[in-house]
Amino acid sequence: MDQRTEIASMGEFGLIEHLTRNIQFQNASTLLGVGDDGAVIDHLGRQTVVSTDLLMEGIHFDLSYTPLKHLGYKSVVVNLSDIYAMNARPTQILMSIAFSNRFSVEALDEFYAGVYAACEAYDVDLIGGDTSSSQKGFVISVTAIGEVAPDKYVKRSTAKPNDLICVSGELGAAFLGLTLLERERKIFEETGAQPDLEGQAHIVGKLLKPEARKDIIEYLSEAEILPTSMIDLSDGLSSDVLHICKQSQTGCVLYEEKFPFHDDMKNFAYKLQLDPTACALSGGEDYELLFTVAQADYEKIASNPAISIIGYMTPESEGKNIITRAGNKHELIAQGWNHAKS
Ligand code: ADP
Ligand code: MG
Repeated sequence: MDQRTEIASMGEFGLIEHLTRNIQFQNASTLLGVGDDGAVIDHLGRQTVVSTDLLMEGIHFDLSYTPLKHLGYKSVVVNLSDIYAMNARPTQILMSIAFSNRFSVEALDEFYAGVYAACEAYDVDLIGGDTSSSQKGFVISVTAIGEVAPDKYVKRSTAKPNDLICVSGELGAAFLGLTLLERERKIFEETGAQPDLEGQAHIVGKLLKPEARKDIIEYLSEAEILPTSMIDLSDGLSSDVLHICKQSQTGCVLYEEKFPFHDDMKNFAYKLQLDPTACALSGGEDYELLFTVAQADYEKIASNPAISIIGYMTPESEGKNIITRAGNKHELIAQGWNHAKS
């Protein structure tokens, strides 16, 4: 990126036109997109799910190690993950950005290349947004819209005792990717040494280029499984399980030995003398789906290698617990577990 085109040379409207010039709709439900005061969507008898996220530079992302294209991709994907977590299919997004004069047209083009790559990967239409300058830093707000068959959306509040607790994919890798990139950033600031990410493509990729679990929602639909509750994992397994327990007024038992870990994740955790289980419980940004199903769905769930059954729900009076590999029972708390109890 050698060329630098000042955004001021295009003006706000010129910039919006430039950034949105190639949009082609993928969804019949998208009737009107960018260019008017509002977009128009017709979900043809399906129900509409809406979700929004705000991402602030320095709080949610660090541009010193996040390529703008990845940031564009990720800011869309994390919103789509919320729509999937409602058991819906995302169809449209709105993208609002604010940026200081440190950003050039070329920089925003990179960001939008990532946005459009995510739209293509997930068959979503970009139908609008807003554009502003900021005094300092980059601000991103994404609103995602999705559709679901009438009353097939899945809430956090409807899990029942004895339901199985299921999680897609693997846990804790994004947290370790973040730990690695933060460590390398500090070393670079102190010594000027170039980052050493050798052999850590998996955990770095999980942080910088997460994917939303479209495949899991499609599987559940094909297998005719309607989860009894669902949430996407953004804040760490323990905090997100506790959200379901609280809203469903249940307890839970998790089994440490059932937690899905990637080998690269485990090896890097051991290298840092961290416990992979603690990384899974407290680390965030996995964007996997955590859901509960009735016991009757056990066979269907167990036959899918992308889904792990990690525990079950209990009556609220039995508390929220994790059974360790050694067979000890600990109380689950938002940051992981409470060793004090046993
Ligand atoms: P208004 O003054 O009504 O807010 P804008 O000039 O901000 O209108 O936006 C014009 C059109 O461009 C609208 O359709 C809006 O949704 C879209 N738009 C604005 N900013 C962006 C952006 N950053 N990305 C995509 N679409 C945008
Ligand atoms: Mg506007």
